[in-house]
This record gives sequence, C-alpha cells and structure tokens, in this order.
Amino acid sequence: MLDYHLHLWPHGQRDTAPTLEEVAAYCERARSVGVEEVALTEHLFRFRQADRLLRGFWADEPDAALRASMAAYWDEHAHADLDDYVACVLSAKDAGLPVVLGLEVDYYRGRMDDVAALLAGYPFDVLLGSVHWIGTWRFDDIGDALSMAQWSVRDVDAAWDDYTSAIEELAATGTCDVLAHPDLAKAAGHRPGAPEECWDRLVEAAVTSGMAAELSSAGWRKPAAEAYPAPPLLARFAARGVPLTTASDAHCLADVADRSADLAALLDELEVGHLRAFRARRGVDVAVRTRVPGP
Ligand SMILES: [Zn+2]
Ligand SMILES: [Zn+2]
Repeated sequence: MLDYHLHLWPHGQRDTAPTLEEVAAYCERARSVGVEEVALTEHLFRFRQADRLLRGFWADEPDAALRASMAAYWDEHAHADLDDYVACVLSAKDAGLPVVLGLEVDYYRGRMDDVAALLAGYPFDVLLGSVHWIGTWRFDDIGDALSMAQWSVRDVDAAWDDYTSAIEELAATGTCDVLAHPDLAKAAGHRPGAPEECWDRLVEAAVTSGMAAELSSAGWRKPAAEAYPAPPLLARFAARGVPLTTASDAHCLADVADRSADLAALLDELEVGHLRAFRARRGVDVAVRTRVPGP
C-alpha cells in the first residue's frame, strides 16, 4: 500500500520549517500499518513562492464576501519556503526513508503554465492535481460558515457541473500526475441528482490526460462519510484501467495511513492488484501488498 497524499501542517497552523524527524515519524507510522511508501504532498498555496506567482487570483470574483474570504485564507496559509520543504524531503530520501517528493497543486484557471514553470525547477516525484474551490468558493471548507452557506444559495447540480468542468480543465493542462480526491465536491454531504454523468466525465478526464486517480480515506472523516471516490466511481476508474494511488490526506501524524486496510478491501472487491507509484514524475506499478506476512 501507499500513502501518496500527506500534509505536514494542519490548516490554520502557522508553518514551521519541516524536519527530518517529522518525516521519519510519518514513515514509521505508515510502515506500522503496512504502508510501504509515502509521498509528502504539501499544498502549493502554503509557500511564499506560490504567493509571489498567484496572489490576487481571486480579484475577478464578483462576490465581495467570497473575494475577501479567499484573500484572508490565502494570507493565513502562504508563509512557508518551498526550497526548505524540498530540501527536507530530499534529505529524508537520502537517509533511506521510504518517501517521495510531492506537492498538491490547485487549479488556477489561465495560470497553470506559470505554475508548471515554477514547479519544473524542483525535482518532484509526483504532483497531485486538486480542485478545492469553484471560482473562489471553498466548497469543501466545512469549518467555514460563509463557504458552507453557499450550498444553500447555489444549485447543487450546477455546483457539481462546475466542479467537474474545473477537473476537466485541470487534467487537460497536463500539469499534474494524480487526480486527488476525485469527487471532493461531496465533502460537505451534497450530491447531484444524477451523479453518473459527472462520474463518467471525471473518468474520461483521467483517461484522456493519462492521470492516475487517488483512492482516499479522507472522505470518511468528512460529512460525505465514504472514501473518495464513491464505490461506483472507483469501479468506473478500475474498469477503464486508470492507475490508482491510495492516500489518507492526513494533516497530522495521527491520520497518516488512516484506514489503509479499508482502502485495500475496496481494491480487493474490484480485483485491483496494482497501485501507481511515481519516481521523477514517471509512473511505476507496485503490487497492492508487497509485504510478506509474518509468521
Ligand atoms: Zn486536497
Ligand atoms: Zn490534501
């Protein structure tokens, strides 16, 4: 098993420089439950380098309250140094820890060439592609009342259509390797009347872009109360041969490799025997279970 989606810092926490000890603790916790390799995938928007590139992307949001909310959210998060983060993970790799260097990258419409140019300067193994906001609406920020109130104002089917379109656009840019939490729009518990059309479009986006898709336990910790993706969407990915990663999306040590056995069970049901690992952004297939059972 893999845990290919890990954050060092909880949202809202002021970032401290990452340490080798933190990375080692993540690896050890993963290994203790049979997860052989992890990817650290901090949010791009936590770094000052992203701030310089992307600050103000919310300027054309017509809703003043959402615009101000995104500006405040951004200011709260964009403090860390990308060079320090990369150096820390590389030193962990050099020390022999089973970790690869990743990043979670949001979709910034019209700016992904600039994002790709920034990221090309670093030796990333894997880039996760995510949509956490529609325009500037943080539809999955369940702790934020302003964001959650939008679910009462907007049409749920339209929100899902917008979400799916953003994923399609992100995939088409070719910037990232893995579609993170593919049906994240359900995080707060809101689902479209007929999800099949969105599911088919999400699968098509992965197939045509060559991206892998992530199977994540994080949805179980949210009102959605199921893994990302939903079982019928996971089955569609598997049926089309989309490579899969497994992930916890932990933002703290306690959640590292969360419910990895439950993820393995979902893969077993679909007879998926391999996962997609990455080295220098090239996919490598690994068996779902590589550990020899003990006596
Ligand atoms: Zn995410
Ligand atoms: Zn994440």
